[in-house]
Parts: sequence; C-alpha cells; structure tokens
Amino acid sequence: MFRRLRRARILRQRLLAPEHWSSLLEEHPILAGFSPEEQGRLRELSTLFLHEKTFELRGGQELDAYLRAVIAVQACLPVLNLGLDWYRNWRTVVVVPDVFTQELREQDEAGVVHEWEEEQSGESWDQGPVVLSWQDVEASGWGDGYNVVIHEAAHKLDLLDGQFNGRPQLHQGVSAAEWYEGFSGAYEDFRKRAGRKRRGKRLRIDDYAAENDAEFFAVGCEYFFEQPGVLKGEYPQVYRLLAAFFRQDPAARLKK
Ligand SMILES: [Zn+2]
Repeated sequence: MFRRLRRARILRQRLLAPEHWSSLLEEHPILAGFSPEEQGRLRELSTLFLHEKTFELRGGQELDAYLRAVIAVQACLPVLNLGLDWYRNWRTVVVVPDVFTQELREQDEAGVVHEWEEEQSGESWDQGPVVLSWQDVEASGWGDGYNVVIHEAAHKLDLLDGQFNGRPQLHQGVSAAEWYEGFSGAYEDFRKRAGRKRRGKRLRIDDYAAENDAEFFAVGCEYFFEQPGVLKGEYPQVYRLLAAFFRQDPAARLKK
C-alpha cells in the first residue's frame, strides 16, 4: 500500500517532462506505434524506473536527466505489460563511457588458473547491478536489432528465478516443456548456421546468440523489440513464445 501511494505521488509530481517524452519517442523508432494509453503507461513506468533505480556513473561518464530517461524508457519497454516488479532483483544501473574490459579467471581440471580479458558492452549478474556502456546505449533503439539495454534487462528477467538458462518465470498458459522445445530447437539450428557462417552465408541475427541458451534468449529479446519481423521470419516459434511472455506483439505494432 505504501509503495502504491508513493508511486502515485511520484507520478503526480515528477512525471517525465512532455518535451523529454516527445524527444524520446522521436529518437527511438522501436517505440513507434503505441496507442495513447500504452504510451501513457510507458511514460509512467519510465518515471518510476528513474526514481526506484540508482544510477552510478563511472569512468567520467556524465548523464543528464534526459540521457537517464533514454536508458529508462528502453529498460521499461520489455516490462510494459508485466510491471516494474519484474525488475525487483536489481537496483543499480552502472554507466561507463565505453566498452569495458572484464578480467576473467578460471581454474582448469589440472588446477591451472587461466586469466583472460574480454570486452563487454554490458553486463548483468545475479543480484548485482546492470552495467552499460554509454556508447552502446547510444547505438540502441534504432530498429537495427542491437540493443544493449534490452539485452541486459533480458538477462535480469532470466535471472529472476535464480537460474541463468534463457528461461524466465513463465506465465500460466506457457509450459516449461513448450518453452524448452521452442527455444532449444531454434538454438541448435542457429548454432549450426553460425558455425557454417565462415563459409560465406550471412546470418540475419547476431551470432553472439550462439554463445549459450541465456545469450540466445537475450539476443532474441533484442530482435523481438528491435526487428520483430526478422525474428518472426527466422524463428516464428521463438517469436510466439516471447510474445506470450512479454504480452506484446511488436511485429504488429511496428509493422516490420
Ligand atoms: Zn549477454
């Protein structure tokens, strides 16, 4: 009850400014085609997101209110028909200026520790913050299939049940078996195609999706919201399952 009152007060007093809101819609083609009612809810969710999540800026990155809203609106797009509580497993958005390097360590069976560095544009881990590179945020939302905000948000939705496996908590009406069947078939097919890619065949979906089940889900979510027609054409079953999970049909909304 308390949270409901608090949220109502924030929406009354701090709703995203109209000029900011119209620029957000104009600058992000993936937000096209919403009804006025849906737009209103997305604006409210984004406002609440800005108040309930903490932004931590690192490496000299600066973000004014508008640029924070650029992140908020794209993070809220997937949960438009689910609600902000689906992001209850994290609080902080860390923003760094550019692609960052992650130091990885792993001990092999012989006990030897391997260390290597990997470049990251975003990162999510259980209970931890979402880390985003601003350069990649700026490249998101254009309708070309790439969206670091949606990618990392998808990992958080996946992690909500404590497991990083490309399967979020499902609603009634979609069984785990149905999900597994639809996703694993598509994933195996994609892996094979990605493996053959070097022989010159171009893939329409980023081959990072071939990394593992969780990345296949996260990249699938990027395409679901950025280029729904591509995902629907390549893997209609995955599109249908994501539409049931997100309770949205971006292919119909964006007509592409
Ligand atoms: Zn990922």
